[in-house]
Amino acid sequence: MSGLLGGCRCGAVRYVLALDQLPGTYACHCLDCQTWSGSAFSQQTFAPELALTVTGQLTIYEFITPSGNVSTQRMCGTCHTRIFNSNSARPGVVVVRAGTLDRSDELETVAHIWVKRKQPWLRLPEEAPRWLEGAPPAQLIQALASAVGR
Ligand SMILES: [Zn+2]
Ligand SMILES: [Zn+2]
Repeated sequence: MSGLLGGCRCGAVRYVLALDQLPGTYACHCLDCQTWSGSAFSQQTFAPELALTVTGQLTIYEFITPSGNVSTQRMCGTCHTRIFNSNSARPGVVVVRAGTLDRSDELETVAHIWVKRKQPWLRLPEEAPRWLEGAPPAQLIQALASAVGR
């Protein structure tokens, strides 16, 4: 099967992302992402929902965002690796946890959001687009698209 392959830590969940090449990714440095990942930031990318085919048992966690939208998080039902999420404000689009791609060693992180919460040791490339808080989705998607094939 063509496309990009990925999956969770334990292997119970696997997916195919039907894209021709690796997508540009962005880092979110917000406190929620630091807490959730147990790390300095989360690394993710946008994809059309129809491009993502998942096999294996997913566990779902839903919550209402401060703006009143429903965020639906999907993780492996066994090892609880977060795989992707969607938001009722952006129908048809999924946010994929880019570190779950098998080829994550080839990814580039080209944009940064919530940099006001960034850990101080982390130096961002000067040319990388960044936002102090969340970015308007259209601007972020454009920043990622402009990086593909660079
Ligand atoms: Zn798993
Ligand atoms: Zn975040």
